[in-house]
Amino acid sequence: MKPTNIKRKRKLRNMLFVSFIICFLLIVRIGFIQFVQGSELQAMAYTQQTLNRKINPKRGTIYDSTGKNVLAVSASVETVSVNPGNIKKEDKEKVARALTDIFDLDYETVLKKVSKNSSIETIVKKVDKEETDKLRIWMEENNITTGINIDEDSKRYYPYSTLASNVIGFTGSDNQGLDGIESVYDDILKGETGKILKITDATGTDLGTEGEDYIEAVDGDSLVLSIDMTIQSIAEKYLTQACIDNECTDGGNILIANPKTGDILAIASYPNYDLNNPYEINNEDLKSVWDSLSSEEKNTALQQMWRNKAISDTYEPGSVFKLVTASVALEEGITDTDNSGEFSCTGSINIAGTRIKCWRYYRPHGAQSLRQALMNSCNPVFIGLRAKVRCRKVL
Ligand SMILES: [Zn+2]
Repeated sequence: MKPTNIKRKRKLRNMLFVSFIICFLLIVRIGFIQFVQGSELQAMAYTQQTLNRKINPKRGTIYDSTGKNVLAVSASVETVSVNPGNIKKEDKEKVARALTDIFDLDYETVLKKVSKNSSIETIVKKVDKEETDKLRIWMEENNITTGINIDEDSKRYYPYSTLASNVIGFTGSDNQGLDGIESVYDDILKGETGKILKITDATGTDLGTEGEDYIEAVDGDSLVLSIDMTIQSIAEKYLTQACIDNECTDGGNILIANPKTGDILAIASYPNYDLNNPYEINNEDLKSVWDSLSSEEKNTALQQMWRNKAISDTYEPGSVFKLVTASVALEEGITDTDNSGEFSCTGSINIAGTRIKCWRYYRPHGAQSLRQALMNSCNPVFIGLRAKVRCRKVL
């Protein structure tokens, strides 16, 4: 064989070998993309090529026991978002300026969102239709048809602001229940979020109505409480008055139940707070130093304000049980309501070697009827009456 032939053959072999290596590496790479990174890349493409906008459901209404008085309701508002990829480069500053002016926002922040390399950015949440109508007019005047979305949303509103605040609770910016009934019954009230799914190309440009999917939101169910608004307002009015008159620094509670059914008709707490502004502290002393408090201190103060003390805190019933003793004695015919001078308070009574005082031990109540003893909340009389009830039962 000629040496040139051998040389050519070797060259060919080398080229074949190099080609084989390249092909092998490419196959490995394709396999890696397909089998190792496949699902991740697919998810990324899906995010890039679909515009997924949420439609918030209308949260259920909370009524009082009459089913007529609305304690919490959702009003229709709108939320504005942008698809930066659908706004032309030369329009970005103009759009940012318009959004800033209409919704009173910070221009730099809005411009950053409008210029971002993402599929969707929220500009402003829960604004009234009057404001979004201004945006609609501006879009029409400036011939901007894509890239700005105005979607239905809802905002929680409490018509009686402070009424039963510690019972009802409130919601957060995503309409989620954060406290009270709003939080405990969130699953019933919240409904199901709907969405608008749009297919776009790799740059986020809308591909028209083809491939558009609209999943309607399902509104939440309403709740009817056992709380009666009239009884609740009366309880709150007198509780407030009593706490102010008696300078109750720890506040107070009134709980009214229907003895026949056990239904809770009112839970009044003092102090209460404004459900439409749940993050505004209700204590004047704290309000004056609010800005100097740490976030932890602020959080503790707010939690304390929102707390439903009537059901969260423990309390020794004490004198409440005088009603039970009196009822049993009356039912058993041991006494009557107005037997003048039937009972006597000497300021204290001895029970099994322990001296139990009347609250007015320094100036004993003296002779009293059952009605007077109940009005005076006199301990010795009720301890004596309880002993009588027991004797009768044994006999
Ligand atoms: Zn007494």
